[in-house]
Amino acid sequence: MAEVTSKKVEESNGESLFVLDAAVIGAGVAGLYQLYQLREQGLNVRAFDTAGGVGGTWYWNRYPGAKFDSASYIYQYLFSEELYKGWSWTEKFPGQPEIERWMNYVADTLDLRGDIQFDTTIESAHYDEDRGRWTLTTVAGQVIDTQFLVGCCGMLSAPMSDLFEGQSSFKGQIFHTARWPRETVELKGKRVGVIGNGATGIQVIQTIAPEVGELKVFIRTPQYVNAMNNPQYGPAEVEEYKSKFEYFQERLPNTFAGFEFNFDNGAWADQTPEQRQAVLERIWNNGSLELWIASFSEMFFDEDVNEQVSEFVRNKMRERLKDKELCDLLIPTDYGFGTHRVPLESGYLEAYHLPHVSIVSVKDNPVKRITPEGIQLTDGTTHQFDVIILATGFDAGSGALTRIDIRGRDGRSLKEQWQQDITTTMGLQICGYPNLFTTGAPLAPSAALCNMTTCLQQQTEWITECIQHLRTNDLQVIEATREAEDAWVKHHDETADATLVTKTNSWYMGSNIEGKPRRLLSYIGGVGAYRQKCTEVADQGYPGFEMH
Ligand SMILES: Cc1cc2nc3c(=O)[nH]c(=O)nc-3n(C[C@H](O)[C@H](O)[C@H](O)COP(=O)(O)OP(=O)(O)OC[C@H]3O[C@@H](n4cnc5c(N)ncnc54)[C@H](O)[C@@H]3O)c2cc1C
Repeated sequence: MAEVTSKKVEESNGESLFVLDAAVIGAGVAGLYQLYQLREQGLNVRAFDTAGGVGGTWYWNRYPGAKFDSASYIYQYLFSEELYKGWSWTEKFPGQPEIERWMNYVADTLDLRGDIQFDTTIESAHYDEDRGRWTLTTVAGQVIDTQFLVGCCGMLSAPMSDLFEGQSSFKGQIFHTARWPRETVELKGKRVGVIGNGATGIQVIQTIAPEVGELKVFIRTPQYVNAMNNPQYGPAEVEEYKSKFEYFQERLPNTFAGFEFNFDNGAWADQTPEQRQAVLERIWNNGSLELWIASFSEMFFDEDVNEQVSEFVRNKMRERLKDKELCDLLIPTDYGFGTHRVPLESGYLEAYHLPHVSIVSVKDNPVKRITPEGIQLTDGTTHQFDVIILATGFDAGSGALTRIDIRGRDGRSLKEQWQQDITTTMGLQICGYPNLFTTGAPLAPSAALCNMTTCLQQQTEWITECIQHLRTNDLQVIEATREAEDAWVKHHDETADATLVTKTNSWYMGSNIEGKPRRLLSYIGGVGAYRQKCTEVADQGYPGFEMH
């Protein structure tokens, strides 16, 4: 086995230089577990995060109403029974403060803090082919030398926060939801504008609507919504879910989306309309993402089935909205249910019944700029605000990595490459970038098409095992071959193109960013199937990967 570099900090021109076996970018769900595993393997490893604390998504997204859409008892690490059972959730879908506390519990229980450098942004990562090592530079000018680089940078961590001309001229307060300040923001009685009504916008809107003085929601694309059923948990419920630990360990990695439910309702074609309706009603009443990722799989492939399920959801929305005008503004008709990220909500639709809440449709009259007073639309209309909330989402999948100046072999730039075509090998490596591993990256299952703890555990475990394989066999470098990457991209595209998801414009397809190459960012062949493919590659000694 290759010798482990002893932990050292060298002095270079008076600056401390970390010489590492592995550097992990990010201290969210993926980064924490990656750090833990590589350290357990005996590597000299350190994690770096721009954030001032652990949690990633759950550190940054502290906007009003931020919460899980995964059930708390499955959004968990399942490698340790002690870790799982040492934490008790208070409800099925808890809010950000509780989730952030849980992430801190994980970091403390696994004693990770000492190996994480917070408030540190990795600005560049350059590969030196002669040395087979990466040189990282932080924004503060610190230099890190490492053999392996693991980008656990997050699928939804590069906020689209600087979208509109004139933002800095606004005289009030303006916040992107993923950069919400730690201190309390007073919204009571204020005139508030929210741009965006995706999963995040919906959580914000339903939460702040009762307290603000006036709320205008700028809507480009109406969303199908699914009412959340959020029971509180006392000792009996906690004991009940904890007793299923082993079941979850077995079950979650093998379902379509890493949740506890799967497409177990039989084939659509085999059922009468009444039977289908009964299934949909039962699942609807569960109030989770089950309707989307575990009702009828035909919904993803068959336009007719999709339309019938879409109509079921539209009817549920119609029943709750008070008039036709609101139905026209809030109920989608030009794309199918489930081809966008489906948000869960609690009272979101009813928020629009409040007299001080209104909708500004920006489908045909987009936001032009932010002025000192508020938001100006293309037709010149201006809406005045005290606070503007940008629920404008993320440069999903690729954004966190392309915001770093990553240079692989021969100085090739990942940013330039992905401006042309976003490709990876199973989302775990990229041809041309030896010893760089990624999690939550494009072309691996992610973001709501996967319960992310399930996927990120599997991906980090694969990376850990791969590095172990190299060290056991005295190998220093691994890189995905062009053939393997092309084959994965082909398989990914064939799988994706068979679904209706690729026929819709959404951030899943990169459509929220002008000029972003169009490709489904998440693998949609199923979490269980993906895991099997990854395991096969490892078991067969990493065919499709060049090692020396
Ligand atoms: C509001 C919201 C709600 C969500 N709800 C769910 C849910 O219910 N279920 C679910 O499965 N998923 C959900 N997700 C997806 C969520 O992102 C994942 O569940 C998971 O938290 C991702 O973990 P991660 O470690 O991959 O990345 P992240 O948690 O995004 O962490 C990445 C970290 O990398 C750091 N980083 C990035 N670039 C750099 C750099 N250059 N230098 C230093 N640090 C850097 C970031 O600061 C960040 O802290 C949600 C996402 C959002 C935004």
